[in-house]
Amino acid sequence: MEVVIVVVAIIVGLFVYFIPTSVASGKKQSTQVFVVNFFFGWSLIGWVIALVWALQPDEKLGATPAELDVEVVQTTSGSVIVCPQCKVKNHPQLRVCWKCKTPFVTERRKCPSCAELIKKEAKKCRYCGTEVSTL
Ligand SMILES: [Zn+2]
Ligand SMILES: [Zn+2]
Repeated sequence: MEVVIVVVAIIVGLFVYFIPTSVASGKKQSTQVFVVNFFFGWSLIGWVIALVWALQPDEKLGATPAELDVEVVQTTSGSVIVCPQCKVKNHPQLRVCWKCKTPFVTERRKCPSCAELIKKEAKKCRYCGTEVSTL
């Protein structure tokens, strides 16, 4: 009987040990979480770090409508924003679509460090992490 108890204990132990990996499965950071979990999970702090990391929302799935890029179209009467959600034309001053209420990210600028387009209001580049002064 003792062998059975040991086997069960090992299975339960492994299950608990790899909770961070199973939590992170399917997420972008799953590989990194697995590496941390596998190599540092034996130390409690490594296990906790892996779990916290695994619980971070997946960037792709966590993207809000506010992250949708809007198309600004020039017309004879000025520029209009084309709603990325319902394709309705909006006044350029609007922050949300008048029809479907999708929030817009209207103004973007280039990060001076990596040249990626970031929000005008951003204080930190989301791509390279450079602090950028607000205009
Ligand atoms: Zn809309
Ligand atoms: Zn940058």
